[in-house]
Amino acid sequence: MGNKFVIVLIAIICFVGCKNEVEKPETENNELAVVEKPVEPEEFGFKLNDYIVKRDTVRKGDTFGIILDRNHVEYPKIFQIAEKAKDTFDIRKLQLGKPYTLLCAKDSIETPQAFIYQPNKEDYVVINFKDSIHAFKSSKPITYVEKVVTGVINSSISETLDAQGVSAVLTNMLADNIYAWTIDFRRLQKGDRFKVIYTDKYIDDSIYTGVHDVKAAYFEHNHEPFYAFQFETDSVKGIIDYFNEDAKNLRRAFLKSPIEFGRISSRYNLNRRIAYYGYKLRPHKGTDFAAPVGTPIRATANGTVTESTRRGGNGKFVKIRHNATFETQYLHMSKRLVKAGQFVKQGDVIGLVGMTGNTGGPHVCYRFWVNGRQVDPFKQKLPEAKPISDSLKAKYLDFIKPIKYKLDNIFFEPEIDEQPEQTVITQANS
Ligand SMILES: [Zn+2]
Repeated sequence: MGNKFVIVLIAIICFVGCKNEVEKPETENNELAVVEKPVEPEEFGFKLNDYIVKRDTVRKGDTFGIILDRNHVEYPKIFQIAEKAKDTFDIRKLQLGKPYTLLCAKDSIETPQAFIYQPNKEDYVVINFKDSIHAFKSSKPITYVEKVVTGVINSSISETLDAQGVSAVLTNMLADNIYAWTIDFRRLQKGDRFKVIYTDKYIDDSIYTGVHDVKAAYFEHNHEPFYAFQFETDSVKGIIDYFNEDAKNLRRAFLKSPIEFGRISSRYNLNRRIAYYGYKLRPHKGTDFAAPVGTPIRATANGTVTESTRRGGNGKFVKIRHNATFETQYLHMSKRLVKAGQFVKQGDVIGLVGMTGNTGGPHVCYRFWVNGRQVDPFKQKLPEAKPISDSLKAKYLDFIKPIKYKLDNIFFEPEIDEQPEQTVITQANS
């Protein structure tokens, strides 16, 4: 999909941005002449036309010194540059494969005048040694483009979105985050449908880096509507959550999975029969998440560790009491990272995936206890994560009004060749 989006995006950006490049000088006889100036390429705050631009990536054996030496900078000068730059950037931190740019003078030996290093797609470090030596860190301008996608489920949501060229990240955001506890995405019905308002993120107006976030969604499951609106409940701590049209939190007090990106390999099933045991009834009172040995296991909610030990078929395990009602347990660890009595927060790493005890492969068996009974966590009515405060509720309802209106006025008809609707909404750092 990328190309089409990018082209449209560039067109939009140019429409907005390139207007400034057109000057309308008044001629002597007061006629207006439109002179279109060629766009002078700028990057990292430099006018690239003033330099010979050499781009490369850090290769095996490269150091800052070797790179500059190769480009005819003498070692005393290199040391001086490294020393002056060190408070901003430690030149020993160059990483293999990361891009760098040398801006060189247009003289006979092409003397380097600035070194720019990009540790990631967004950020860069400039070490300028044209005259005096100075260094600074900066980031490329980020653009968020709002988009809308709708779909009707035939088989799965990932297939429906994939057919429209929408990143799987969006599926995960909806299934594992926003609607994790409200809709079971493995049990969608044919004809279920959805509308999502989300944003894509671009660096430098052109580099697509993926889905940034979901602003609002509407999911019709079994003819029942499920709204989700993103709302910041704490601007100081930057806490963002999703609530429905009545300001109810969609999230539950528990994470859906003790493993990030974990795959469920075996569900809670009281009627499980296993061939190995002659098809005898072997109830499975846990949910297994397969993951490589060493994968971090997270506490799914705040609580106090009640057991951290090794025992029989359970292998190394950790058990946590969350309150008077709920307990969770995590089996077959290769390593336990918490002790009994310790308080843990939701998301804290409490151990690593392993194969200890009775297990055929690396996984964590996640057990969920309600009032001392083991149950299927995916079938529980679990407590809301954090209800919206009374003082914020009115503000929230005001905030979602126009978004809900927009959502309600998006139509379902999947039209072929339709351009996704998009608006440039943010432009930072430019
Ligand atoms: Zn299990």
